[in-house]
Amino acid sequence: MFVRVAVPIPQLDLLTYSVPRDLGHAVVGARAVVPLGARSVTGVIVAVDRTPHGVAEGADVRPITQLLDREPFVPAEIIALAQWTAEYYSAGIGETILATLPPTTRAERRDAHKTRRVAWLTAAGQDGLDTGTPRQQELLRLLAASPQGMATADVTARGFSAALLTRLSSQGLIVLRRERVNRDPFASSVVAGQAPDPDRRLTREQDDALARLVTLAERREFQVALLHGVTGSGKTEIYLRLAARVRAAGRRVVMLVPEIALTPVVAAAFRHMFGEQVAIQHSALSDGERHDQWQRIRNGEVDIVVGTRSAVFTPVEHLGLLIVDEEHDGSYKQDESPRYNGRDVAIVRAQKMGALVVLGSATPSMETYHNAVTGKYEHIVLERRVLDRPMASVTVVDMREQYALDGPEVVLSRPLKVALADRLLKQEQAVVLLNRRGFATSVFCRQCGSSVECPNCSVSLVVHGDGSARRARCHYCNYTSRVPSACPSCAAPYMEQAGFGTERVEQEVAAACPGARVARLDRDSTRRKGAIAAILSRFRDREIDVLVGTQMIAKGHDFPGVTLVGVISADVGLGMADFRASERTFQLLTQVAGRAGRGERPGEAIVQTIYPDHYSIQLACRQDYPSFYRKELLFRTAMRYPPNVSLINVIVRAKSFSQAMDEAGAVVEQMRQRDEGQKQIRLLGPAPAPLGRLRGEYRVQFLVKGIHRTRMREILAESLAARPELARRVVVDIDPLSVL
Ligand code: ADP
Ligand code: ZN
Repeated sequence: MFVRVAVPIPQLDLLTYSVPRDLGHAVVGARAVVPLGARSVTGVIVAVDRTPHGVAEGADVRPITQLLDREPFVPAEIIALAQWTAEYYSAGIGETILATLPPTTRAERRDAHKTRRVAWLTAAGQDGLDTGTPRQQELLRLLAASPQGMATADVTARGFSAALLTRLSSQGLIVLRRERVNRDPFASSVVAGQAPDPDRRLTREQDDALARLVTLAERREFQVALLHGVTGSGKTEIYLRLAARVRAAGRRVVMLVPEIALTPVVAAAFRHMFGEQVAIQHSALSDGERHDQWQRIRNGEVDIVVGTRSAVFTPVEHLGLLIVDEEHDGSYKQDESPRYNGRDVAIVRAQKMGALVVLGSATPSMETYHNAVTGKYEHIVLERRVLDRPMASVTVVDMREQYALDGPEVVLSRPLKVALADRLLKQEQAVVLLNRRGFATSVFCRQCGSSVECPNCSVSLVVHGDGSARRARCHYCNYTSRVPSACPSCAAPYMEQAGFGTERVEQEVAAACPGARVARLDRDSTRRKGAIAAILSRFRDREIDVLVGTQMIAKGHDFPGVTLVGVISADVGLGMADFRASERTFQLLTQVAGRAGRGERPGEAIVQTIYPDHYSIQLACRQDYPSFYRKELLFRTAMRYPPNVSLINVIVRAKSFSQAMDEAGAVVEQMRQRDEGQKQIRLLGPAPAPLGRLRGEYRVQFLVKGIHRTRMREILAESLAARPELARRVVVDIDPLSVL
């Protein structure tokens, strides 16, 4: 017997091995320890064959070392979904399978520095559960209940000797491996939210929406519904009740959220309502907790899973409902291979399972709304906030007028300062958004005009910190240096800082509002584990008056005390050469304005911009989604961008610019020839990527546009196959969220 094993190594993917007779029967989805060069790695069996697949005649096929499972560890449904994902997103099946596994199993891939020894039961060990000494049986049973293995430290802590472990390992009943410990870089934990009240009466709109969704769910067939509800319309309440209905009908539920630390209310509400029946997959859980959760899910003990992107691959069976909250959110797209979009994979999974998908948003993506208005998706609209709370009133401040009044250095406009002072007086809270981190965004020389760039990347260094803590940092590769006092190019001592980010805004707010308690929420202020939750709960408890931050503060938070939202430079991003610039600006402004007035007092938003007439700003202020969609669709159609056209973004990286250009040019030429006479694709480029140099490598980009994704992918794959030496240096992004 032969098996194809997906190994967690990019570019290697599927490797063929033989299965020695004494290891027993291999099944798809089981884990196997296999030799790889001088190493051994754990992979997942993706196919079982009678003859070695794809191996040259006479070539050596090595045997697998251990079989860890008799039954599939990864269910067949998830293997099939991973195969679809790998193919669709032009990724390797090995790395895609890896994305479906719980974090402990895939820990070894991470660049963490801590390692630990882990014991796993082998298939032989599984067969030998009832043999040996009682102590040995006890240990084998313990490991049998831990499909992801167990740290040997945990094993010995339970009184088993290290000698016993060694003995079982030499008998082939268990394997002992050193694995890296995955230390999670993102701090997060679930903040207690308000408990949903099961007796609460739904509004008329909520009631109607729920009734329609329940009808759809009861059909038990594949269907996608867009739940398009303005901010504060009570979508969570609908998710909860729909989930309860689906569960009562004997089917299970997966709910995806953009990031649990930033959407604690939703996760907490599910916990409150379903208690132990819900597994929440989030990064602040310890390895042990995550392992337990995954195992409970795998064993069918959990009916509802709430998690981020990768939870779309969670091994729940009898799935009847998938909810994707804030479906437009960019964090559903993975920005490393496999570059999948969790929302789209959710739809494919539902299709295979005959399940209902609910996509919820106040600001749907262009693609989703397009599918809703063209009838492909059900479209359910919530136009009003609960309890008839008004939408925030929005004032647009033309910053060009403010510059004329107070000079070009102004950060906070006069109306915003007045409004902040007023809220503090009334003991209400405010949120101030600027979607740009740091203190100053560039350092330049007044004599020669050159600015200080990262030596590895084609971007300006950003100044962080003030006074003695001041440093210049690259936001792409983290290169850090002192802020130079003389120009690196012309040596003149006239260095100046320009542009500003959240750190500067924090300082300005503190200066404008003496006595106010000001805090900042951005990636810099939340590096420490648990910091996001800590800041959010201090804000909820009103220990903070003004919270300054990046788009992190715009996500689905529900802070009843906030009555003012200030947006500094609403146009950040509009100047970027990205086809989604307007869509993102519209979404961000609408979402952040939606944070105001969620309590009893009405809310107000003040939006500062130098483009007060831009449609994405104007229409966001009116919270007019349909008009935005129509206007944006004209632009997208004229420029041939999604949703009417599909897109693939290809980046070629090389040591020199000319090499990257030549190689990308050759691929483009190949593609043209293959498309000759068919006109299935349009090619744009190659051209230097907007980020032309990154971490010391030059980047050249080209875009593939077309209607038939499959054909586009084929032409690209065939053309790349002709140049295997490029494999490691080409990034293929199918359905990119951004082409920057
Ligand atoms: P959305 O996700 O649509 O922005 P939420 O689900 O966060 O809105 O609901 C907004 C607020 O309204 C929450 O505090 C929620 O508890 C409350 N809420 C939801 N439904 C009702 C209702 N029927 N009656 C009263 N309050 C409600
Ligand atoms: Zn850099």
